Amino acid sequence: MRINKNYGNIEETYLFSEVAERVRQFMAKDPGACLIKMGIGDVTRPLCQTAVKAMVAAAEEMGTEKGFHGYGPEQGYGFLRDEIADYYQRTSGVKLFSDEIFVSDGAKSDIGNILDIFDVDNVVAVTDPVYPVYVDTNVMAGRKVIKLSATADNGFLPMPYPGLQADIIYLCSPNNPTGAAYDKERLTKWVEYANAHGSVILFDAAYEAFISDPDVPRTIYAIEGARSCAIEFCSLSKTAGFTGTRCGYTVVPSGLIRDGVQLRKMWLRRQTTKFNGVAYPVQRAAAACLHEQGIAEIMENISYYKENAKIIADTFTELKWPFTGGKNSPYIWVQCPHGMKSWPFFDDLLSRANVICTPGAGFGDCGEGYVRFTSFNSRENTEEAMKRIREIYGQE
Ligand code: PLP
Repeated sequence: MRINKNYGNIEETYLFSEVAERVRQFMAKDPGACLIKMGIGDVTRPLCQTAVKAMVAAAEEMGTEKGFHGYGPEQGYGFLRDEIADYYQRTSGVKLFSDEIFVSDGAKSDIGNILDIFDVDNVVAVTDPVYPVYVDTNVMAGRKVIKLSATADNGFLPMPYPGLQADIIYLCSPNNPTGAAYDKERLTKWVEYANAHGSVILFDAAYEAFISDPDVPRTIYAIEGARSCAIEFCSLSKTAGFTGTRCGYTVVPSGLIRDGVQLRKMWLRRQTTKFNGVAYPVQRAAAACLHEQGIAEIMENISYYKENAKIIADTFTELKWPFTGGKNSPYIWVQCPHGMKSWPFFDDLLSRANVICTPGAGFGDCGEGYVRFTSFNSRENTEEAMKRIREIYGQE
């Protein structure tokens, strides 16, 4: 018996445990401190009532002879896939076929699982800073990962460059952690690159519902040519507060063919072999969220977070701290003041303002000197945290 030695190559990410440890040490010294968490990547608003009602009704249905559901279709129920297709049509004018949509328990699983259909010899490109799942899942499988720097110079949006050789390219837009989002023109360049090189773009659209700029596509399929080079992952987690409810979806267009094989068929085979679907009440709740009344309710929550993001962004503008994000994203990526590095600024903010952020260095080398703030919080906490920051750092 031999274990998968590649696990030894995964970098330990101390980010969130180190944040927790520093907070614990701080609280031991100052137990009365009133901390405000602005680093957390989880939603805080409750599920919308339409989702709750749909979930309860579906659970009750399951308790009846007639309405009981056993194993569902591995690809997801037709009612949800149709609703998702409708959502793409309404929000982006994009036509998807129901059999190109695969329902899952969230984007994270699919982002990792999709690698089953790709050879280990493919070269993978990710942006730096990066959502760590893209890197770790590939390192586990033994793939070579190259990093594309996302810096202030390129607006935190790396582009293909002459000589770039990448078979699999991860793009996350709006981005976690930077909040930067690709516009049509830049995304088109990536689609052209992928089609010209026979690469596949893995497009993570987990934050698409936060986009308000009409020039920023909510789906990569709004770009001509994307159906022959891109797989898209999306999720109800940030769109509808489903982080604890678990429902996402992946789109693999029929036109995406590599080595003469339809990737949609490979993914279907993979899912039918290794996955048994998402709970019926959860799929009913997800479908309800994407329908008229549900959409209105989930967009109220998103507007709430976006207003928080604006309060944060306005504070950094006032302090003249360079930042990105916050407009099409719940995240604000801000340069630490006075040329501080990520962790010293994290400590400074914790001890002086009692505010917790996420050190950018934890997302990759290019994150050094930055921290991430999130708008997933109450209005009251957001306002209070920004008031403290203005009072402390505004004087310097
Ligand atoms: N993709 C990105 C960029 C994320 O930030 C997250 C969660 O934070 C996910 C995917 C995971 O989403 P899910 O909850 O659907 O697994």
